[in-house]
Amino acid sequence: MRLLLVEDESELARVLRQALEEEGFRVDWAADGEEGLFKAGEVGYDAILLDLMLPGLDGFEVLSRLREPGGRPVPVLVLTARDGVPDRVRGLDLGADDYLVKPFDLDEMLARVRALIRRSADRPSPRLSVGDVTIDTVARTVHKGEAPVDLTAKEYALLEYLALHAGEVVTRTRIYEHIYGEEEDTFSNVVNVYVANLRRKLGADVIETRRGHGYLIRA
Ligand code: CA
Repeated sequence: MRLLLVEDESELARVLRQALEEEGFRVDWAADGEEGLFKAGEVGYDAILLDLMLPGLDGFEVLSRLREPGGRPVPVLVLTARDGVPDRVRGLDLGADDYLVKPFDLDEMLARVRALIRRSADRPSPRLSVGDVTIDTVARTVHKGEAPVDLTAKEYALLEYLALHAGEVVTRTRIYEHIYGEEEDTFSNVVNVYVANLRRKLGADVIETRRGHGYLIRA
């Protein structure tokens, strides 16, 4: 999953980014509202964490532009140092999905991000099932029947993403955009390798290939 963090306090941004990356998220950071809005227009993020008090274009303005008709339906978690109820109400009324008041607990932030992503994918349960395979998205563990299956972080990320979007054909481009990123060569065959590993570990029929289109886990 790929997240955008819009936060002008660099030390806080560093801490949040590290906590999210340790949970397996890919995180892009924008230090102000302009940059955040630009990035949000370029990439289809799985969720955006948006600070309200930003220099220049503030978080309210970013939010209202994100929520203009025709915008991408990305979930937004608002981060605010302001304690006031009116700011939280204004954020929610502008289209934020949830909020956290600073200072917040990192575990709570991670739980809220996971919940937002589940809700936006219309999968309210933290456990995803694919045939006899069960994915626990909180513990980040996978079982086939009763047996635990050992996956690498990148194999897990691919399985979770496809399962969260079960029923949709997910293109290779989208897989790179959401999971693997620029550090890997888009023209390399790493996705094929991860898919082959998942089939070997979980069963050949767990992921379907749609030639020329992408990959599918059946709903
Ligand atoms: Ca700030």
